[in-house]
Amino acid sequence: MKAPPFAYARARSLAEVFDLLARHGDSAKLLAGGQSLLATLNMRLSSPELLIDISRLGDLSGIQIRDGVVRIGALTTHAEIERSPEIRKRLPLLAQAAPHIAHPAIRNVGTIGGSLALADPAAEWPACCVALDAHFVIARKSGTRRVAARDFFKGLYATALRPTEVLTHVEIRVPGPEYRSAFVELAQRRGDYAIVGLAAQAKRARGILSDVRLAYLGVGTGPLLARKAMAAIEGKAASPDVIAAASKTLAQDLDPGPDLYSSAATKLQLARVLTGRALAALAQ
Ligand SMILES: Cc1cc2nc3c(=O)[nH]c(=O)nc-3n(C[C@H](O)[C@H](O)[C@H](O)COP(=O)(O)OP(=O)(O)OC[C@H]3O[C@@H](n4cnc5c(N)ncnc54)[C@H](O)[C@@H]3O)c2cc1C
Repeated sequence: MKAPPFAYARARSLAEVFDLLARHGDSAKLLAGGQSLLATLNMRLSSPELLIDISRLGDLSGIQIRDGVVRIGALTTHAEIERSPEIRKRLPLLAQAAPHIAHPAIRNVGTIGGSLALADPAAEWPACCVALDAHFVIARKSGTRRVAARDFFKGLYATALRPTEVLTHVEIRVPGPEYRSAFVELAQRRGDYAIVGLAAQAKRARGILSDVRLAYLGVGTGPLLARKAMAAIEGKAASPDVIAAASKTLAQDLDPGPDLYSSAATKLQLARVLTGRALAALAQ
């Protein structure tokens, strides 16, 4: 199927983006890497009158580190994050997750901002950002605001972004040297969206895990922090008994619906398997 007709504008500045958004409102859509948006147009799931191409806005691209905070521009591609030595060193969770996103051709073009704005419940970046307690910088004509990742995702493909706003940066505080991370995922085939995935981070000192963060993908309408399972591990060593107890409490945290391939019970069981794998990795 072909996309419905639409007008196209390549923005040269954020100011121009805001002017276009103010004039066209809901009938305009931002175009970043186009890897999700163009597919939805071709399937006629969306029919904006105007595409505002933001892909050439250099200020929204690249990775910077300042005062212990990693700042990733919304237009930074999945591949740039995957290949960044700074990311591997300071935020290894992102480096571990990136290879699970689609295929190299898509990772070369798709952007972190596009993925977060889309908020697919099976996407990797939203869960990583929740696990890392990221904050998002959101700009509009009259200024900027910062929103915590945990408050940004509002449901199925729904976020705190308003139609006149642009997600410009992701900010993540670099965890201390005692922190460990693990990203684990199960998919039908390499490169497919996850059936279930888990972005995990914890502080490990003398074998004890604390400040545990377990953010799941593919088990709800958005990324989900498993607070009861996190509490079951907090301040303990990841022994087989503790892992079993945390996995058991997952049923209270997660209430996955079935998808095309897996029943709800299968998803919960897969989440338990991934929890065991991730906790074992954090404990190493
Ligand atoms: C075959 C295939 C497999 C895929 N597999 C996976 C996968 O396994 N995991 C995964 O996470 N993703 C997957 N994707 C999606 C891919 O990661 C996309 O790159 C990503 O979801 C969207 O990024 P984009 O830059 O292409 O955004 P676009 O497609 O350009 O935009 C997506 C949406 O976000 C909005 N938007 C974009 N940037 C901004 C911004 N800065 N501020 C506000 N709104 C914005 C757009 O208006 C649009 O509504 C897959 C895609 C394909 C085609």
